[in-house]
Amino acid sequence: MAYLDTQLFINGDWQNAADGRTLAVQNPATGQEIGRVAHAGKADLDRALDAAQRGFEIWRDYTPAARSKIMRQAAALMRERAGDIALLLTQEQGKPLAEAKGEAMAAAEIIEWFAEEGFRVYGRLVPHRTNLAIRQMVIKDPVGPVAAFTPWNFPINQVVRKIGAGLAAGCSMIVKAPEETPASPAALIRAFQDAGLPEGVLGLVYGDPAEISEYLIASPIIRKITFTGSTPVGKLLAGLAGQHMKRVSMELGGHAPVIVCEDADVDLAVKSVGGAKFRNAGQVCISPTRFLVHNSVKQQFAEKLADLARGIKVGDGMEEGTQMGPLANPRRLSAMAEFQQDAVAKGATLLAGGSRIGETGNFWQPTVLNDVPLDARLFNDEPFGPVAGIRGFDKLEEAIAEANRLSFGLAGYAFTRSLANADLLTRRVEVGMLWVNTPAAASAELPFGGIKDSGYGTEGGPEALDNYLNTRAVVVANV
Ligand code: NAD
Repeated sequence: MAYLDTQLFINGDWQNAADGRTLAVQNPATGQEIGRVAHAGKADLDRALDAAQRGFEIWRDYTPAARSKIMRQAAALMRERAGDIALLLTQEQGKPLAEAKGEAMAAAEIIEWFAEEGFRVYGRLVPHRTNLAIRQMVIKDPVGPVAAFTPWNFPINQVVRKIGAGLAAGCSMIVKAPEETPASPAALIRAFQDAGLPEGVLGLVYGDPAEISEYLIASPIIRKITFTGSTPVGKLLAGLAGQHMKRVSMELGGHAPVIVCEDADVDLAVKSVGGAKFRNAGQVCISPTRFLVHNSVKQQFAEKLADLARGIKVGDGMEEGTQMGPLANPRRLSAMAEFQQDAVAKGATLLAGGSRIGETGNFWQPTVLNDVPLDARLFNDEPFGPVAGIRGFDKLEEAIAEANRLSFGLAGYAFTRSLANADLLTRRVEVGMLWVNTPAAASAELPFGGIKDSGYGTEGGPEALDNYLNTRAVVVANV
């Protein structure tokens, strides 16, 4: 399937920017321009805002059953089109085709789960203190038009988690999707359009992220902001939202610790977190990054992880058998080189990888560094790439202290056969999501989000809908 140019979606219509501006889209495996994406200006944003207001006034009055019907149809279309959508996603983002198809299929599941959960947005009746004829009601209403900002690592998944919950709650939404990977989120929005979503309920724009976020957040039409991306940008947008008293949810960066205890099943640990480390070329917010391994098993773990890294087939995601694609943009290549050089200069040992592959495309070898010092950038800044750093520990308390040292608190992993260790880890590791003896398996029904500087407002489970609801009290006395 040929790659498609991407237009803006405003008030139910696909359209070019009013001033005709576009941006280039590149294939990260080849560095070639494969298409263009429309670049919205203020006139386009004004039309998107007006449409979102009108869309909200329509959608909030749909019953949960009517919303669910359209959402389920959109899910069915995503499933039907997953093969074609995967081709767009792999060409613009680089991930292997099977993973791209998996992302499109998972979107269908997420939509369906939220379509059902929309039925369970309940208020409650609270007995009056002195007169039971006075009905005190707690009502949950959609918060209003939402501005959603999403990144390029999971171009479909990051959007669908937001629109699944937002639409089920009765909100309209303007999505500012990633300029680097515009066609696959556009295919998701098209599935909703084709499923019969009323005009204006979903809008889709691209352009200059800072210009768009400043404009939309300040608009009185927008009542809520949701962002997935880096912590510094999240703090900036949360600050802006605060100035305008807008509701916010933030799914930000992480630096996931992996604690491998003395009594761990080392093979299980390597298989679980090793596979996850290099998935999507490490560009995953919950990617395992700081490997804290008990000194009695560290050498064994390090050798096995290095073997796994060396065995990964890196290549164009469109080619059969590719297990890891390129980094999504050239910025990540220079970031990998810096992490690697800094760690080695400070005393880390390179066990596997460590270089760019070839001159074309953004390919970086799966890399494993051992004995990484604590002051290395790799152990402080989110690597967001296929680089694993290992350190030893002697006492579990030391590993827990290291896990909690950074301001991030998104995901964590641990491997142990001891219930006492698992209990201590459950209570003490400061993360929004902890997986013990198993790789991460995110699903729509499980909370997904962080604590500390990794953000707030989970994107899974019933709590995800709360982000998009106002809670109001209404008291009715019969006269
Ligand atoms: P970046 O910080 O420049 O951008 C991150 C995302 O935020 C991008 O999608 C970008 O378009 C958007 N963005 C940037 N400035 C914005 C603004 N003023 N208003 C609205 N949106 C804005 O970083 P990058 O080079 O694109 O990505 C690298 C870093 O981003 C990584 O180190 C990682 O921490 C983070 N990231 C996190 C996730 C995640 O899933 N949590 C996804 C992608 C990137």
